[in-house]
Amino acid sequence: MFGLMQDRPLLISSLIEHAAAFHPHAEIVSRTVEGPIHRCTYADIRRRAMQVANAMQTLGVRPGDRVGTLAWNGYRHMELYFGVSGMGAVLHTINPRLFPEQIEYIANHAEDQYIFFDVSFTALIEKLAPRMKSVKAFIAMTDRANMPTADIPGLICYEDLIGREPVEYAWPEFDERAASSLCYTSGTTGNPKGVLYSHRSSVLHAFLACSVDGLGLAAAESALVVVPMFHVNAWGMPYAGAMCGAKLVLPGPAMDGKSLYELIRDEGVTLALGVPTVWQMLLQHAERNATDPKRELVLRRVVIGGSSAPRSMCEAFETLMGAFVVHAWGMTEMSPIGTICNLLPKHKRASLEQRLDLQVKQGRGVYGVELKLTDEDGNRLPHDGTTAGHLKVRGPWIANAYFHDDGGSILDDECFFDTGDIATIDLDGYMHITDRAKDVIKSGGEWISSIDLENAAVGMPGVAEAAVIGIAHPKWQERPLLIIVRKPDCPLINKDDVLQYLESQVARWWLPDDVVFIEEMPHTATGKLQKMALRQMFRDYRFPA
Ligand code: AMP
Repeated sequence: MFGLMQDRPLLISSLIEHAAAFHPHAEIVSRTVEGPIHRCTYADIRRRAMQVANAMQTLGVRPGDRVGTLAWNGYRHMELYFGVSGMGAVLHTINPRLFPEQIEYIANHAEDQYIFFDVSFTALIEKLAPRMKSVKAFIAMTDRANMPTADIPGLICYEDLIGREPVEYAWPEFDERAASSLCYTSGTTGNPKGVLYSHRSSVLHAFLACSVDGLGLAAAESALVVVPMFHVNAWGMPYAGAMCGAKLVLPGPAMDGKSLYELIRDEGVTLALGVPTVWQMLLQHAERNATDPKRELVLRRVVIGGSSAPRSMCEAFETLMGAFVVHAWGMTEMSPIGTICNLLPKHKRASLEQRLDLQVKQGRGVYGVELKLTDEDGNRLPHDGTTAGHLKVRGPWIANAYFHDDGGSILDDECFFDTGDIATIDLDGYMHITDRAKDVIKSGGEWISSIDLENAAVGMPGVAEAAVIGIAHPKWQERPLLIIVRKPDCPLINKDDVLQYLESQVARWWLPDDVVFIEEMPHTATGKLQKMALRQMFRDYRFPA
């Protein structure tokens, strides 16, 4: 017997309809590519998204067609989020930090029909346009006055394109399982693979972001969305923002500490979301330049994900800015949220030290994401806080397969997806990532967590960034090599200082066999440490005898 409830599809268009009806004046604040701040509302976004949808029809875009973007976080990108997906086409957000060859591969693989781009990417588009076979025209996301002069076939001006379209559009109703957006993983091996989100998965994920023990996004919040709209839909923030009517602050291309600090101060930001590399720049700016961040700011929570949040960073946000760090974990294949580190009643009276011990964990499973740990053979392992295993996930916003079935079947026989991460889960359900499976250091039959070692090292004054890789060892199989970028303007630290510092932080047998210093750390297009490049850099390295 079926229930007798209305079967309304969960469509992305319904989010912007809701926002315009109930939060029409809530603001979307964008730092533009040109520099000035632009302000608009959800009502404006809806109106212009409808113009986008009409323009898509005029251009002959059909449901299911892919429409690419190469753009920063800004209001026009947000209009495309709702206009393109809302009319039934698939918004394909491309990460501009990928190598040009990867961008070319991705656009061709996705068979993008049109590509919208911010004018900062004009030269890139000019170079790639002849090689993007399926693209019929390129649209510069600007107005007539700021149009770039470039040799791009079929170049269109965004404001001209949508400006001549009606501001009314009847969103079509279709199956909620239809594809809504596409994002390629910046995989370290082989070609990038496409993760194809659906309307249903995106809306369900937005409910999570708006729930109190989720990310707690709400109408009362002013949220700085530093996580890029070109990667995993900016952790779903455009959808979640529309669902609850939160003010969204979109930083455009300016990710430096000063620009972000000013936005947080001037826009009354209460919640900020981003990866550790960006927060490091913000904290350095606040430490050096701001008069008194705790007084100047109303920032209450900072969500950190994408890479592990070091203890020193959680502490710095708390002591310097008065903001609580919410550590979260997920991946492109998971829309992306999988776990969130919120507190339980029993932690209410915890000291700062005890709380920080907890905050460095990636958090508890949320409703909608089932977690399991397994050994190499797929047998389940206990959630006892000490047994580390392969972390696998299952749920309605987790990928079933990659676009065009690249890589074939990606689920185990219980339909769980292997995240490639190694983790423990404690008795309270808090998950802690110890490593990527391929980065773990196998020393004498035991595992050393490269992430824990790195996080311990960045806690040392004078260390800006740290990476640990395993180096072959004749006796122990592998031993850790610690690679450090020093902080500028700090007393010069050397290997002995670092080892001495680490002695009080980690088990003796974890201590790196050597410490080397480099000028700059290689990062991936999504801001993670690029261990492949480091392994390549140190391929001929041997430990001192
Ligand atoms: P991506 O698909 O590019 O977003 O990368 C997903 C991967 O980033 C995960 O599988 C983890 O290895 C890593 N990751 C994401 N969040 C965290 C976190 N909070 N701590 C440690 N690693 C993380």
